[in-house]
Amino acid sequence: MYKIPLFDLNFDSKEAKAVKKTLASKWISTGPKCLEFEKLFSEKIGNQFSLTTSSCTASLHMALIALNIKGEDEVIVPSLTFAATANVIKYVGAKPVFCDISNTSNLTIDPEEVKRKVNDKTKAIIVMHYGGFSCEMDSIIEIAQKYNLFIIEDAAHSPLSTYKNKKLGTIGDIGTFSFFSNKNIAIGEGGMITTKHESIYKKLKLLRSHGMTTLSYERSKGHSTSYEINEIGYNYRLDDIRATIGIIQLQKLNKDISKRQKIREFYIEKLKENPFIIIPFQDYKEFSSNYIFPIILKNSDLKKRDFIRNELHLKGIQTSIHYPPVHRFQVFKNDYVQLPNTDYVSNNQITLPMYSSLTKKNVYFICNNLIKILDSYDK
Ligand SMILES: *Cc1c(COP(=O)(O)O)cnc(C)c1O
Repeated sequence: MYKIPLFDLNFDSKEAKAVKKTLASKWISTGPKCLEFEKLFSEKIGNQFSLTTSSCTASLHMALIALNIKGEDEVIVPSLTFAATANVIKYVGAKPVFCDISNTSNLTIDPEEVKRKVNDKTKAIIVMHYGGFSCEMDSIIEIAQKYNLFIIEDAAHSPLSTYKNKKLGTIGDIGTFSFFSNKNIAIGEGGMITTKHESIYKKLKLLRSHGMTTLSYERSKGHSTSYEINEIGYNYRLDDIRATIGIIQLQKLNKDISKRQKIREFYIEKLKENPFIIIPFQDYKEFSSNYIFPIILKNSDLKKRDFIRNELHLKGIQTSIHYPPVHRFQVFKNDYVQLPNTDYVSNNQITLPMYSSLTKKNVYFICNNLIKILDSYDK
């Protein structure tokens, strides 16, 4: 057990109480709680159709199918992301075209490089709002409009985060969210998919449930007695038990994020003068979910980064890496391209603990240890 884990759930008796009620209702699969969760989510992010799903990965997969991406198509995607963002492009048989990040301060996809990688086969750009910090959406939109590309936002890190007063996940054609157990909204496994296009929403709803034209909950209410299948779909539904947890988590989210913002400020105050550390997005002004707190080591290498992480581990501080770069995984060897900024960041990045119950004292303990370890390295 770590003295300070990387992440901790923001759970109390509310989640348990609400789940107990749902269990007692005896409707536990996709039903009224999923609908309530979707409605609340749409209200919070503003004017979108929202659909609960079994995961963000399922959401991303359905997004590509709904936009008819397949076969010879190319999809531009960052490499500095969780593997699922790129894996789904393979699910539909298309080609992931990996793109570098802007620099060590802005870890999101570089619009200039996106522009260079567009060709006749390009159909879509998947952007990922790293840590809850927005991609440069004005530039991305400009490219998408010029070349007639779809934009999918992997907003797994960024519920309620904004870009120029718009919520992340609502700017492109489709937004996808994760409610995996270490995300801002944690329900175990689950996700959401959102879109402003009603036609896409209708397609997604079919894809989510085997292509069936009605849900069993609707049939149980007597709305219909039968169904048709016009297209092959999946079972990418969420259940009402976890949707119940999601509703409670979503109600807590604003307060949880405010606490995270304070924690980020404590970190920045302690680390901003350190000569060995870059704090990405240090002067970021938009509202961010602060999903994680990443740092990057200056003039460093993999050996140093792993040494620092291990020393923190010995002090009882859990850290992580976001991310091992996807373009260097074996399975993507045919799609390999050189991405120098991504390579540097993935070799020299450390994710420090971030969760709403982390105290100022905890942050100081983490930072003081980190500073001491960095000072003693190579001496
Ligand atoms: C967690 C995550 C996913 C996958 O989410 P699941 O709900 O676990 O499928 C996708 N993309 C990013 C950026 C993530 O962090």
